[in-house]
Amino acid sequence: MSGAFCRFAGGSHKTGPRVPVLCYHRVLPEVGGDGGHDFLSISSEQFASQMKFLSREGFYTLTLEEYARMARGLQPLIRRSILITFDDGFADNFQIAWPLAQEYNAKLNLFICTGLVSQSNPVIMMEDGYLIADSGPSAASFQNAKLRELSRPLTWQELGEMRDSGVQMGFHSHSHRNLARLSADALAAEVETGLDLFVKKLGYRPRLMALPYGRREHHHPKMIAFLRSRGLEVIFSVRFGRAKLPTRQPVLPRITIFPQDDLTTFKRKIFGAYDWLG
Ligand SMILES: [Zn+2]
Repeated sequence: MSGAFCRFAGGSHKTGPRVPVLCYHRVLPEVGGDGGHDFLSISSEQFASQMKFLSREGFYTLTLEEYARMARGLQPLIRRSILITFDDGFADNFQIAWPLAQEYNAKLNLFICTGLVSQSNPVIMMEDGYLIADSGPSAASFQNAKLRELSRPLTWQELGEMRDSGVQMGFHSHSHRNLARLSADALAAEVETGLDLFVKKLGYRPRLMALPYGRREHHHPKMIAFLRSRGLEVIFSVRFGRAKLPTRQPVLPRITIFPQDDLTTFKRKIFGAYDWLG
């Protein structure tokens, strides 16, 4: 057993058996002005300082597969480990976040919406929960060419390159609809279409999923049971918190990182100071 793999013996390190799962969406340079920075985008400086902190503090960054094995009790907990996830699959994940993570030896994992991949227009969030790569007026409103480019979805080629370098991908639905509102047939179609495309393009069947619109009102037991029956064994929401591993919880919480998080709140989130929020 290598030094990085030691069985957790109860309280011997600060994160204990509660392994933090960070939830990011976008990392953007300071490009100013036209609406690209929202409550789910953090700056590249912020992201770099968070990766630097994890590296300096000796955190082991997990892959989705390692987390899944630990969650199901198939692998001993890795001491001081953390899972870094990105939702939605924006181009900035490839162009900005990934190179920064590599600088600090941190592993990233992506939850992708298969229906958006390789579309060339910026991704726009619609009121009913759809994410679309829009060519209409919203796309035209991006006056900053760099920001427009970073706001398109990732391509299958970029995803392939990341996969070949060890970035693992999970499922984030096909179209980013609110799955809880779909009929059983529509849910089955949404999931089958997405998983088939995922397998065809990336060569493996994902076993982890992040729910689109992952708050409590966005999922119900029947829907979760269906997702699990399709091989999605570990399912994350955006409910705040850190699951105690191993776990039988059907839907696991994460820690969303917001633009207003400085290193102090980042640290507090990882070590559980805000777990009561969940
Ligand atoms: Zn999402």
